[in-house]
Amino acid sequence: MKTVLITGASRGIGRACAIAFAKCNYNVVINYLNSEAAALKLHRDLANLGCSSIVYKADVSNSFQVNNMFEHVFSQFGHVDVLVNNAGISQQCLFTDISEEDFRRMIDVNLVGTFNCCKAVLPSMIKRKSGSIINVSSIWGITGASCEVHYSAAKAGIIGLTKSLAKEVGPSGIRVNCVAPGVIETDMNANLSESDKATLADCTPLLRLGTPEEVAGVICFLASDKASFITGQVISPNGGFLI
Ligand code: NAP
Repeated sequence: MKTVLITGASRGIGRACAIAFAKCNYNVVINYLNSEAAALKLHRDLANLGCSSIVYKADVSNSFQVNNMFEHVFSQFGHVDVLVNNAGISQQCLFTDISEEDFRRMIDVNLVGTFNCCKAVLPSMIKRKSGSIINVSSIWGITGASCEVHYSAAKAGIIGLTKSLAKEVGPSGIRVNCVAPGVIETDMNANLSESDKATLADCTPLLRLGTPEEVAGVICFLASDKASFITGQVISPNGGFLI
């Protein structure tokens, strides 16, 4: 049986990924940081689907915690077939109001977190000459977003990391891809007013925001054998917002 580790799986897109992978018969590692009750509920929900899962609290920006998490997972499941680097934070803020601390935290969670998890999993993937990594960026990492300079910079970094790493580890049989979602209905966008959401939907050819399940579907596809010749790519489920 295959094993997937999903960072930031307690809520939103990560939670939807956990359910989607469970339905594809994976063992699932649910990483979370603060939302313990939600992570434990997901663990129970996955058990009801017949899925074996582990709940593990770790801050992805902390390499010590990440390495401990992977050691625990290796001891339980042997190896990790699929890593989904989904954990992320965002902040809307004028550039002139972004503190150095805000900037560093944004890069640390989104980009360094992705680096930490890739580093922890790759030696065993290289040894097995097999594995798939999916990193979660954003359309703002492609286009840039006003009032989200630090978020956009971190997400653009994830795209660069994905493409470079895909070139480096492709010869070892490992695929590395990226999803860059448009606006998705999760807690991350809870600050948007109904009129903001309506405006964003109006700018989207499919006339609506996306769901976490729609992003999870793309991530599962990229992890699957159906995507066996796809690596180094950025796939953007965005309803046509960016064409
Ligand atoms: P969300 O609902 O806010 O969930 C974020 C998840 O990340 C939570 O499970 C949270 O865990 C986890 N997390 C945050 N910081 C962490 C850390 N330091 N270590 C471990 N886990 C951490 O957000 P979402 O919308 O599902 O976003 C998921 C990913 O998609 C993010 O990378 C985001 O940037 C990206 N994305 C989202 C959208 C969108 O419109 N929603 C669009 C494009 C890209 P706890 O709650 O347990 O702390």
